[in-house]
Amino acid sequence: MNIQTESQALNTYLVKTLLDPDSPDQLAISGSDYALTWHELGEAVIRWEKNYQQHYPQHNVPVVLYGHQQAEFAVALYSCLLHRIPYVPVDYIYPSERLREICELASAPLYYDVERQAFVETGIPAKSLDQQDLAYTMFTSGSTGKPKGVQIGRESVWGFIQWVGSNFFLPEKPVLMNHAVFSFDLSLIPLLANLAKQGHIVLNAKEDIASEDWLVSLKNKKVSAWISTPSFAYQKLLSPQFNADYLSALQVFVFIGEMLNKALVKQLRRRFPQAKIINSYGPTEATIATTVVEITDDILASDSDLLPIGQMMPDSQMELTSEGELVIWGKNVMRGYLGLAEENRQKLLHRQDSQWRGYRTGDLGFENGNLYCTGRNDSQIKLNGYRIEISEIENRILNIAEIQEAVVMPLMKPGGGVLRIVAFCVTTLAADTIKSELAKVVPSYMVPGQIVIKDRLPLNPNGKVDRKLLDAQARVC
Ligand code: AMP
Repeated sequence: MNIQTESQALNTYLVKTLLDPDSPDQLAISGSDYALTWHELGEAVIRWEKNYQQHYPQHNVPVVLYGHQQAEFAVALYSCLLHRIPYVPVDYIYPSERLREICELASAPLYYDVERQAFVETGIPAKSLDQQDLAYTMFTSGSTGKPKGVQIGRESVWGFIQWVGSNFFLPEKPVLMNHAVFSFDLSLIPLLANLAKQGHIVLNAKEDIASEDWLVSLKNKKVSAWISTPSFAYQKLLSPQFNADYLSALQVFVFIGEMLNKALVKQLRRRFPQAKIINSYGPTEATIATTVVEITDDILASDSDLLPIGQMMPDSQMELTSEGELVIWGKNVMRGYLGLAEENRQKLLHRQDSQWRGYRTGDLGFENGNLYCTGRNDSQIKLNGYRIEISEIENRILNIAEIQEAVVMPLMKPGGGVLRIVAFCVTTLAADTIKSELAKVVPSYMVPGQIVIKDRLPLNPNGKVDRKLLDAQARVC
């Protein structure tokens, strides 16, 4: 199958699912703004595209979608997939300067402000994408100091829809809980599983999740599938109502985005004895998820502390380099980073006998019947499930006038995982000023929790910044 045929297959599937749904009166989306049935969703995706055509008729120019957990956001996104409009999702957690930067990098002359249901002109000249049949470009933290756009083809999205519908242990007509912002591709698990299984997706805004009666609303909506990072589930365990007696419809937990540990699985087993627990792994560059496994009692009882990430999805293969790096080959691998030739040269691989690309993940791992991921070989980290390039924060700080030197480091917890990000700065500026300058250009989760002002940075005997000493100093500050 070639790319065009796969893109067409996605279209045929979406036309049927969105415009001739099996259960038109069943709820399809509950958002922070409104809820709509599958029949209403079909009408809404057509309306959205008509509106778009009036404002934005250029062919193969991406449209930026800017919002936060609204049903209208999901409508715009489904409409783009149906009408072959490449889109770029951006959440309100991004400050306006980062939105602007992304519009520039994507050459997007307009963005759709979801809350106002209005297209906004950016003043940026439109430029057609080099790639054809692109589904979306998702911007992640970039080591050079700017976000980098991961371009995902429609063939990859189609492969994922087919896989998630059959291999993620989801119930029939699932009610899917989404907490992830749409600029994080974890959100595409429930969004695309909803299309694959014609279920009901429940979108949860940050304020709703923080509210006392959030679990009441999940109970009332009969949420049956929970999709989140492990960190998010950990936070919810603090609530005594987070159990099977209260959330009696909940049948499956799908975890992805960071390492799943046994302690979390054991606690969930106690709270939800009947629920399946699924671990999935994958970088944004390989379309959302690449491996999956059910964490059974046998796996939990094994001697190893490490849980497996499972088996590869169809049409893709995992290669392990001699250094233990995981390299993904398959139709799920991105078309490339937008406009970043050097990064593409470093990360993307080509082989004469394969029509698909390979992607060097930067993750380390091994295989013994199942695949395992043990950590990273670079400075990319996960904090509360968010992917962050430490060097992007460092570069952003160094861009602030009056900063002479800066080192940014993750402070690790004893058992693994990041406790907080610390920045050491040689400057006359106050820590709060640095924080507020940073917050103008990066989302709040990238602003270091601790900023230490120094006269100079300590060096080790090799003349390099003494990171061990800084780590120790940060812990007593
Ligand atoms: P993102 O592109 O934000 O989805 O982040 C992808 C990265 O998160 C991967 O390259 C891994 O480092 C990490 N990751 C994702 N899922 C898992 C998992 N199940 N276990 C361990 N690490 C994971």
